Amino acid sequence: MNVNEPMGPTSIELANLLVKEPYAWPGGYPRYALMMDGGALCVACCKSEAKRIADVDPNCPDDQQWRIHSLTVNREDTDLTCDHCNNDIESAYGGDE
Ligand SMILES: [Zn+2]
Repeated sequence: MNVNEPMGPTSIELANLLVKEPYAWPGGYPRYALMMDGGALCVACCKSEAKRIADVDPNCPDDQQWRIHSLTVNREDTDLTCDHCNNDIESAYGGDE
């Protein structure tokens, strides 16, 4: 899956924003980072891998997995996992109620 080039904030700015605001308001939906290669990165990895995200080469194909396309909300994908640490990414409707 390919996504379009991001406009606006840089990857590291988006990573820092996600760490600061892991939930989207209004609604309180859990957010995660959608990467340029179509992968997903969890909040914890945005924090722990911040240096890697900040140092990506936009022209290097192998670095696309560390470039954040956008921050997005996980409403109901209960099978979504982080492509780096493989931990589940929290979904808004997937939890036990
Ligand atoms: Zn992760």
